[in-house]
Amino acid sequence: MSQLGSPASQPASPGIDPAATDDPPSSHDLPALVARLRAGFATGRTRPLAWRLAQLESLGRLLVEREAEFVAALGHDLGKPPFETWAAELRVVGREIDEIRRQLRRWARPERQKVPWILRPGSAHVVREPLGVVLVIAPWNFPVQLLLAPLAAAIAAGNAVVCKPSEVSSATSATLARLLPMYLDQDAFAVVEGGVPETTALLEQRWDHIMFTGNGTVGRIVAAAAAKHLTPVTLELGGKSPAIVDRDANVKLAASRIAFSKFLNSGQTCVAADHVYVHEDVEEKLHAALRKQIVSRYGKQPARSEHFGRVVNTGHTERIKGLLDAGGFDVAHGGEVDVDDRYVAPTVLRGVSADADVMGEEIFGPVLPVLTFTDIAEPIAAINAGDKPLALYLFTSSDDTVQRVLDGTSSGGVCVNDAISHLLVPGLPFGGVGESGHGAYHGRAGFETFSHRRSVLRRPSRSIDPPLLNPPYSRWKNALLRRVF
Ligand code: NAD
Repeated sequence: MSQLGSPASQPASPGIDPAATDDPPSSHDLPALVARLRAGFATGRTRPLAWRLAQLESLGRLLVEREAEFVAALGHDLGKPPFETWAAELRVVGREIDEIRRQLRRWARPERQKVPWILRPGSAHVVREPLGVVLVIAPWNFPVQLLLAPLAAAIAAGNAVVCKPSEVSSATSATLARLLPMYLDQDAFAVVEGGVPETTALLEQRWDHIMFTGNGTVGRIVAAAAAKHLTPVTLELGGKSPAIVDRDANVKLAASRIAFSKFLNSGQTCVAADHVYVHEDVEEKLHAALRKQIVSRYGKQPARSEHFGRVVNTGHTERIKGLLDAGGFDVAHGGEVDVDDRYVAPTVLRGVSADADVMGEEIFGPVLPVLTFTDIAEPIAAINAGDKPLALYLFTSSDDTVQRVLDGTSSGGVCVNDAISHLLVPGLPFGGVGESGHGAYHGRAGFETFSHRRSVLRRPSRSIDPPLLNPPYSRWKNALLRRVF
């Protein structure tokens, strides 16, 4: 485990500190680390908007100045093509930071509320205040974006933060641990690397908020640990996000957008279309269009394409291979697996039975089961029979169908005639519902997640104090208040 920090006396500066990376302490130092950040927070240093904006500017600069180091680390961990690292990791966070920097002053402004006549003269405001010292735990699939976007939101709200990158994407974890302290105020921010023992030790500490992104099993561990301290949690979890392609859909467009969601990052994307329900009248058309999309993106030998990534490790490759080996479908395209190379071909399945293993768990790999239906009521019923998904994608040209699916299902988010792109709309909160998680971030939602909405009523020290609500509850008070209160 390495943890990046410095003594509390170190001057706070968002600039580069080359001496920042030296001392990797063990987990018994965690209480001291949290105490140091609490002391930093207690000084009030994180509260001024100017400080928050400077930290965010510095974080944004890190993403630009260190692109080559992130490209190398993500290439090592996930075979991530450099463009995907830039677009889906660095620039997504950069855009988030840009939006926060543009809007922060407006979001942070006290919100005036109407005061009922009985409390006048007086004024009422909702004031956003930081929560304190928060913990952000990230997964390995988008290991930069899913650590730094929550971090940016927590900074915006004025918190001190401990970041825990995933040990599974180890090169990226080491890069984040090395670089972040060079750009951020070390009295307010630290990185703790490590796996289960280190995360367990972190979860024993008292935090003012925990944001966890990962699977639901660990989500439950996080929620249980947080409950001991009554710490609020945001859980960004996964699940099987479906796509529906109806008879009246633009099938070519649907194939393109579903393929984008499914084969980006080799299918290791929480908001990938996990599987597709297609109207049987357009099934053949969809398969032909998906084949075309795969070949046009990755060629006839995707294993040789520099634009197609790898599964994060051989364990996950074996897991995906196991889903394929279990059968319960025909392979329409792809199907090859090379465990040593951590390669799973972009794969499309057809004739998938509902009880096939691929339909039993989130696939989290480049394998796309396609199931058919004859009436839109069938996919709606199938979706409602499972856990509420993180995302739902609907391809149709009918407004009535859109309304029917929106009214008839629930999910964290929805795209109509698109997939994944709802994440890029700054005003749309990103988060799950039910098994796919709770709480949200991105844009203002992230600022709110890491803020306390404090209610403040102010009344003048010199004002009349009619005893209307005070005992004795005489008949005239009772009569008057029943008319006007
Ligand atoms: P992971 O294995 O990297 O785990 C996530 C974090 O939990 C890591 O930092 C890890 O160190 C920690 N962790 C693992 N086991 C732990 C334990 N027993 N106790 C305490 N901490 C532990 O990532 P993962 O869970 O494999 O990630 C994939 C899952 O995350 C998928 O289900 C995916 O859909 C979901 N996901 C959701 C989102 C979202 O935004 N909703 C984004 C990405 C991934």
